[in-house]
Amino acid sequence: METNPESPLDLLWKEYGLVFHDFDDLTLARWLAQTLGQLAGKAWRLSHPLLGAYRLAAQLGHERQIWFKRLAMPPHAYTESHCCRAPMLPLLTRDVRDTGLICQHCSDTLVPFDEIPAEIRVQLETWAAQYSPVHAVAHWDDRQRKSAGNYDRAYEQAARETEQLLAQAGRLLAPKLLEFYPAIVWEDQDECLEVRPEDVLL
Ligand SMILES: [Zn+2]
Repeated sequence: METNPESPLDLLWKEYGLVFHDFDDLTLARWLAQTLGQLAGKAWRLSHPLLGAYRLAAQLGHERQIWFKRLAMPPHAYTESHCCRAPMLPLLTRDVRDTGLICQHCSDTLVPFDEIPAEIRVQLETWAAQYSPVHAVAHWDDRQRKSAGNYDRAYEQAARETEQLLAQAGRLLAPKLLEFYPAIVWEDQDECLEVRPEDVLL
């Protein structure tokens, strides 16, 4: 979503985020800690408005080193992350095998793939391995497109399969991760295949 810093969508999110710049450090820390309380115990779509707001505040909090200042206590269930010492709030994406679970505060790897508990890691591995060739259809070169015959149909088919795979992440995998983390976020879109959150039905 925010891969290209010049994209109109990115500029819009920047504008949304301005509201938090008016918060002083203490107010921001309290808002984050309180909102973490509301996020606890649930699997969240990345597209959820509350999560979107949290992410904007969390990124500003990271810039201001809010969690180092210990201005507000997050709920106990959230242990400190190794990447940036913010409370652990992991994001599950299709790249989980390469990047592990991603930190919603600093956007770095929060839990490397090998450190995800084995019970769920095996299922994530299977899911990501299924997803990878489907996603790759969006990035086929000319030769691959030609050999597929009707590329539009192949792309459309890949998008339909992606909707199912993302629904599986939200319905099965994310709730399982909740057994190990206080709250979990899962990516509910695939921009390369033009799958939008509203296409992913739970
Ligand atoms: Zn972090």
